[in-house]
Amino acid sequence: MVDTVPAVDTKKIHRLFEAQRANQYKVAESSAGDRIRKLQKLSDAVMKYRPEIREALWQDYRRPAAEADLGEIYPVTSKIKHAKSHLRRWMAPQRVATPLAFVGSSSWVQYEPKGVCLVISPWNYPIQLALGPLISAVAAGNTVIIKPSESTPHSAAVLRKIVEEVFDENEVAVVEGAVDTATALLELPFNHIFFTGAPEVGKIVMAAAAKNLASVTLELGGKSPTIVDETADLGIASSRIAWAKFSNNGQICIAPDYVLVHESKMEAFIDAVKSRIREFYGEKAAESASYMRIINARHFQRVKSYLEDSINAGATVVYGGRSDPGDNFMEPTVVTGMPMDSPLMQQEIFGPVLPVVPYRDLQEAIDLIRSKEKPLGLYIYSKSTRNIERILRSTRAGGTCINHNAVHFFNPNLPFGGSNNSGIGKSHGKFGFVAFSNARAVYKQILPTALDKLTPPYNNLKMKLIDLTIKWF
Ligand code: NAD
Repeated sequence: MVDTVPAVDTKKIHRLFEAQRANQYKVAESSAGDRIRKLQKLSDAVMKYRPEIREALWQDYRRPAAEADLGEIYPVTSKIKHAKSHLRRWMAPQRVATPLAFVGSSSWVQYEPKGVCLVISPWNYPIQLALGPLISAVAAGNTVIIKPSESTPHSAAVLRKIVEEVFDENEVAVVEGAVDTATALLELPFNHIFFTGAPEVGKIVMAAAAKNLASVTLELGGKSPTIVDETADLGIASSRIAWAKFSNNGQICIAPDYVLVHESKMEAFIDAVKSRIREFYGEKAAESASYMRIINARHFQRVKSYLEDSINAGATVVYGGRSDPGDNFMEPTVVTGMPMDSPLMQQEIFGPVLPVVPYRDLQEAIDLIRSKEKPLGLYIYSKSTRNIERILRSTRAGGTCINHNAVHFFNPNLPFGGSNNSGIGKSHGKFGFVAFSNARAVYKQILPTALDKLTPPYNNLKMKLIDLTIKWF
């Protein structure tokens, strides 16, 4: 299939952008029915190309078919189902109340498309993190250019095939390429930019957007903590944490990055996690068809250096730790005793290494979380309502699961996104539709208004009326 990343083609990028700019009002005028039909076509194409998507993900980084289906196909088809059944309501003008001083009028909010949008997507879920924002953008009536990640070229090629089969390029187009292609796209005056990737790159995207005052949705990353308190069910906690940490080889923005465990449960928790890892991947994860690889040599070296530097600083590997650079393979690895200034406790790991940190008092765990940037996800394993409420009240995060990790992503009725360093803006369901829309305020005067009586020249009677308005309305 594909082995090289296409070079930046500025002429093509400009041609596509101008074509979409010329076509945007036609696309914007589409009815809910038109948009639902487009989304259905997209869903059908994803199902048709399901075998090719699985194959591409295997070639890109050995993603097992089950994880391809659950992590790429299902999020797309379920989001489309949700959008199809709610779109008419989202698009309908939403009446709002009018203050008494403006009696004789009516007001409503009407969502209109932002226009020409850019989606820049990452490699860790190369299909759904490109098509997810696309679903919201199409539902909202926009045109879209997608720039997928250069690190998963096989998946990007299938993505382009799907999009080309469903849309004309003056409505939706995929432009494959690396950073230079993203940079060329970011110079254009898009109306909205939806970026998913690292916080450092998010800053570059936001700076580029500022030049054109384009609005942005930034879906970023960071270190998502998990608290396992003294009341937690360790069987459930260890199983769900091991699943969320080692699926996709830890390369999930909402994976539990590190675990804070009450010291009384530390040993039992580590034993339980080790058992789960053996159950999931056997004694030799390298031979398991369910265990993935790190995406490429650069990221392999990055994760390995975090591990080695942390070991040199005093950390202990309590499970796994072996790796094979030739295959970008690293065992599911559990580590304890990391100094707080070691890379495993400072950097987003985005790989199959799980640091486990004991705490004595819940406040200690809360203080540690507060000392870091606001995370994208924060997970709590507990049976204590008091502890759960305290953690929710005293920490900040984009989203939280109680007695689970990461699965809030799958509920389209919840907003998905971070806060500051972990992201700006929300996506999914109605929140995604709103992100790609301008909420237009419409005010309609029906009857004569008191304001007509307050025009210049001002006199004492008018001043009295203004006084009354301030006092009573
Ligand atoms: P990345 O930021 O390196 O790349 C993402 C996209 O940005 C790619 O298409 C890439 O070509 C482009 N890009 C890279 N450098 C650029 C630059 N200087 N200028 C313009 N564009 C540039 O991220 P990644 O390595 O693909 O993904 C990993 C990161 O993404 C992690 O931090 C992870 O937490 C985050 N992430 C967040 C979410 C979310 O929903 N919040 C989902 C997945 C991944």
